[in-house]
Amino acid sequence: MSQCPICSKPTNPEHKPFCSPRCREVDLNRWFTGSYSIPVPDSDISEEDIDTLERAINALDSNN
Ligand SMILES: [Zn+2]
Repeated sequence: MSQCPICSKPTNPEHKPFCSPRCREVDLNRWFTGSYSIPVPDSDISEEDIDTLERAINALDSNN
């Protein structure tokens, strides 16, 4: 019943809450670019965390 927050397609249980790794990647990119309107109090995302996420994104790209 749930929908992908990125493209509104039905959610894939393997990629909840998204429909695909691609949409999850888009979601991550939104976080990085600050597109989310919800402010994050006491953000504890370090450069190391971002590096880890970027590697995950690159891994998704190479898996495609
Ligand atoms: Zn999607």
